[in-house]
Amino acid sequence: MIRANENYNKLQASYLFSDIAKRVEEFQQKNPDTHVIRLGIGDVTRALPPAVVKGFHEGVDEMAVEKTFRGYGPEQGYAFLREVIAAQDFQSRGADITADEIFVSDGAKCDTGNFQELFATDIKIAIPDPVYPVYLDTNVMAGRTGEFQNGRYENIVYMDCLKENNFMPELPKEKVDLIYLCFPNNPTGATATKAELKLWVEYAKENRALILFDAAYEAFIRDETLPRSIYEIEGAKEVAVEFRSFSKTAGFTGTRCGFTVVPKECMVFSSTGEKISLHRLWHRRQSTKFNGVSYPVQRATQAVYSKEGQVQVKELIDYYLNNADIICKTIASLGFDYVGGKNSPYIWIDGQGRDSWDFFDLLLNKASVVCTPGGGFGRCGNPYIRISAFNSIENVTLAMERVKKALR
Ligand code: PLP
Repeated sequence: MIRANENYNKLQASYLFSDIAKRVEEFQQKNPDTHVIRLGIGDVTRALPPAVVKGFHEGVDEMAVEKTFRGYGPEQGYAFLREVIAAQDFQSRGADITADEIFVSDGAKCDTGNFQELFATDIKIAIPDPVYPVYLDTNVMAGRTGEFQNGRYENIVYMDCLKENNFMPELPKEKVDLIYLCFPNNPTGATATKAELKLWVEYAKENRALILFDAAYEAFIRDETLPRSIYEIEGAKEVAVEFRSFSKTAGFTGTRCGFTVVPKECMVFSSTGEKISLHRLWHRRQSTKFNGVSYPVQRATQAVYSKEGQVQVKELIDYYLNNADIICKTIASLGFDYVGGKNSPYIWIDGQGRDSWDFFDLLLNKASVVCTPGGGFGRCGNPYIRISAFNSIENVTLAMERVKKALR
């Protein structure tokens, strides 16, 4: 008898985006002539930068000629890409990461989801609430949690991110082995200072724990005092893995490329306390289960780091940050508290006691604007909504005019 992995039964069906789609469809059916503006799902809207498109074309052209054609590529990604990532994303900021510590992949969702395979099933895991759901669900699938009760899984240490703690998770009171952190944060848009990350690095060292640091939104950081990488913190190389993505940085949500940094110093432990190289484990896992990112995509990604690419990518992100600023100003003028929107494409708005779905319905019905109800990201997300800056400036401006009228 073929038996199922029954851990999947514990998963809470994620109704969030399908519920949103259903409510929007119903609204649109009743109001067929209304232009609904979507500021909900965190997908980019602007085209790939010209330098990236040029690199992409060149890669395809090389594949069309036998002399330059490429088959399977190197397991960790082409050296031309890993070297430029190490130099420009890390070494230029004083973080001593080398090309052989970088693993190029098809995005941060797969890597943040797959990485947990490297750990024992009975470790203690700390996860923020609210949270990007992939961290939690992949551990449920792997059998690291108990049942779902009162909005939470057993055997997970939830770290509440609330207004009272500036949406910054506090160090767990009990000892944990694996910690998920994400800055700039999805969904709250909160950022972390060097001093705040330093506390986590110290905690991980003291407890022989590991930090999985998701930096998918680092390109939105404009405040030069904020760290873009956890490796800007001394000692982090021993206790942290970092995930990066070109999805939001360069408009790659449909092109697919990201990378994970696994420093050689990073160790995990056997049941008898012997050190095991995490780099070796991830290398083994990737070379067994993954066959790399397509050559033209790696060429396109390399172009992100060219002189023109850097200018164009900055312009792309500035565009979304300007949208975020328009949203923040409107929300502030209406007297709502919010976090994010600076150094982040997300604005996390306190609904002043409203249930997050009620707030969602209010904006949809009165302003024809779609946001994301915070409750979909965890119990602590409930009084909040998330508005995303990924849309055209025209749509964002119009949406905010309508929101002003609806909430005044
Ligand atoms: N990590 C966070 C926090 C995200 O919000 C997202 C995408 O929304 C991802 C990772 C996934 O990125 P990718 O498109 O590279 O898979």
